[in-house]
Parts: sequence; structure tokens; C-alpha cells
Amino acid sequence: MNLKNLQRTSKVPRSTDFLVDMHIHTSYSSCARITLDETLNELMGKVNAITVTEHNYIHNYSEETIQALYDKYQIGVLVPSVEISTAQGDILAYGISSPPTPYLDAHKVIEMIHSEGGIAISAHPFDYLGVGDLIYDLEIDAIEINGSRTQLSNELAKGAAATLNLPLVGGSDSHIHTQVGKCVTRFSVPIKTIQDLIEQIKKGKCSPVFLW
Ligand SMILES: [Zn+2]
Ligand SMILES: [Zn+2]
Repeated sequence: MNLKNLQRTSKVPRSTDFLVDMHIHTSYSSCARITLDETLNELMGKVNAITVTEHNYIHNYSEETIQALYDKYQIGVLVPSVEISTAQGDILAYGISSPPTPYLDAHKVIEMIHSEGGIAISAHPFDYLGVGDLIYDLEIDAIEINGSRTQLSNELAKGAAATLNLPLVGGSDSHIHTQVGKCVTRFSVPIKTIQDLIEQIKKGKCSPVFLW
């Protein structure tokens, strides 16, 4: 199945779906030009939750901040999450307390993530700063379909997930307004915490969905 089919079959979210944009940068990342508030404002009514994945940095949002954001936008901010630069490419990590030193070996980084009970997801594997074919040699938990990268690279990611029998997730990888919420992850149950998210992904109960 090519990505056109993927997009077509997964285009329309059902009302019972719980949608999470799992790959978001804010202006804290030097490469991004949108704040967390602007991102949430953009996503209001479109997704149920997000994870903020800055490069090699984990935000310590307080419970009060997260509650205030929820009250304002009706979107959950699930913590902690981060995009780690490894020697071989970018790895998204969910459920770890602090990011490892950048540019360590990817195998080592994934080992560290798992030792903390977190999950490791290959970000845009077949595009710029992805791990490429090393994906077949890594103990990752899932593979990303990325809203900001090429269709071809997403098709290759989908093929790798089929070969490795791994779940696919979706993230917008948004750095600017026009990228926010393009591709997200669909769950069939509410995701209230990062542990809920980890649990569902480990069970393979998730799928990428393009919102436009
Ligand atoms: Zn990346
Ligand atoms: Zn990114």
C-alpha cells in the first residue's frame, strides 16, 4: 500500500478517536518559530493531547501549568518527551526523566530509554537526520510517519514497520504555524498520561492519521 492509500484510509478521524500529536517543537528549539500557546491555539478542537519534543531538552511543566493549559485549550500536554540527536539520527523518547548527552550511539541511547521504562521511536527514519537502514538493527518500539517530511520517506517508514512488525505513530514535527497538527496518532482509548501512551503503543494499538 502506498502513502496515498495510507492517507486515504486513515483520513477521517472517528468521534471516539483520541488524537495525539506526538512530535512538536516550540520556540525553545532554536529551529522553531512558534510558541507552545500558539501551537495549542492552532490545535484546539483538532487533537486531544500533544507531546512536546524539543531537541535534547525536556520541559519540566508543572502540574499547575498543564492544568491551566488544559483549561484554556482542552488539550492535554503529556510529559515527559524529547527528540534525541544520536550519532546515527533522531530518536523520539517518551517517559524518560532526562535526555542523554547528544550524539551518543543510537543503540546505547535506546538501551538507556528502555532502562527507564520509556519507549524509543524512530523519527523520520528515511529523511534528513533519520537513522536510515540502521532502523533494521535497532531495538525501537515504533516508527514515525512524519507530517513535515516527504511522501517517499513516509512510504519507506511504512515498509520498514511492516518488515519489522512494529507499530506506526504520527507526528507533525511542527516548527512553524503551517505544520502544526498535519499528522497525528490515533488511539481508541483516552490517553491521560505518558504511561497510557506507552502502554497503547507497546500493544500496537495506535495508527498515524493525516488531518489534512
Ligand atoms: Zn528530527
Ligand atoms: Zn523534530
